[in-house]
Amino acid sequence: METITLENCPWCNGIHTYNLNVERSIVIKNIIASDFNETKRPVRVTRIFICPKQDKEFQGTLTLYDTSSGRIKSITVIGVKND
Ligand SMILES: [Zn+2]
Repeated sequence: METITLENCPWCNGIHTYNLNVERSIVIKNIIASDFNETKRPVRVTRIFICPKQDKEFQGTLTLYDTSSGRIKSITVIGVKND
């Protein structure tokens, strides 16, 4: 389970942490020179989140990273993470 923390909630200015379901597809690597210097590729997506204090929706942008062995296929917001 991956989590994302959003700061500056537009409704309450608070910080909320959400559980995410992230699907990655496995990358079959070809061994070529450029693979050795591979960097993590940022993936920015916009999703609807719900402020747990005011129970209102807002749009938030989150950034996750592809890794050398897995490309992000889909990202689903499951809900607020309870501390
Ligand atoms: Zn909030």
